[in-house]
Amino acid sequence: MESPILTLKHVNKYYGETQALADIQLDVAKGEVVTIIGQSGCGKSTALRCINGLEEIQSGSILLDGKEIAAAGTNWKEVRQKIGMVFQKYDLFPHMTVLDNVLLAPLKVQKRKKDEAAEEAIALLKRVGLEDKAHSFPRQLSGGQQQRVAIVRALMTHPEIMLFDEVTAALDPEMIREVLNVILDLAKDGMTMLIVTHEMAFAEAVSDKIVFMEKGNIVEISDDPKAFFKQPQSQRANEFINTFRFQ
Ligand code: ADP
Repeated sequence: MESPILTLKHVNKYYGETQALADIQLDVAKGEVVTIIGQSGCGKSTALRCINGLEEIQSGSILLDGKEIAAAGTNWKEVRQKIGMVFQKYDLFPHMTVLDNVLLAPLKVQKRKKDEAAEEAIALLKRVGLEDKAHSFPRQLSGGQQQRVAIVRALMTHPEIMLFDEVTAALDPEMIREVLNVILDLAKDGMTMLIVTHEMAFAEAVSDKIVFMEKGNIVEISDDPKAFFKQPQSQRANEFINTFRFQ
């Protein structure tokens, strides 16, 4: 079997006394979509933040393409180009157009040629249904549109893996769908992704693997999302999923 793109081995992370991640072990293979679910505060976001170096871990290792990235001396500028991250808050620069926002990293960090990068940006904006917004400013866009721009911005560096941290949590219901559709489209295209979401129907539809966490621990991993959502193995996952069921 091909070696995974991302591996977490015995990862432990504390905030003071609070253990946010407890001996986390996880592999994400190329083209795989892995979704982490669990109650608020169980460590989902911390896991993603440790993977792209926004938080330090206390022990364990995180390997990207087999290379340790959680150790001192990691060149995060370089590594972050391989890891695309999209957050709940899209944080586009308000004084820059959509096109300039998505071209910032390719031109300033990657030193790509403007014409070539702009061509790709327009193609990606078209793919997410926003080709007519290239010259608009963020304030002229809805939350869902801004989030799609944030996804394009992350894709522009050609990441090997995309991390999505509750990207629809701040959106109105009618905008959630349009953002999730973009992520589904990326999944169909073979993009490797690690997703944190509370959208259970979406998690079932998009994922190859479901990871259920509680209090910093991985309680259950399933490579059959349909079966998992019908009947998880662990009682805790069952109780969690029940909170989303209407009966
Ligand atoms: P989730 O994403 O599942 O809601 P988090 O990863 O945000 O959970 O949080 C995991 C645990 O770590 C929680 O107990 C939370 O209160 C704590 N935590 C998260 N971020 C910080 C921080 N910056 N400082 C202190 N504690 C934090």
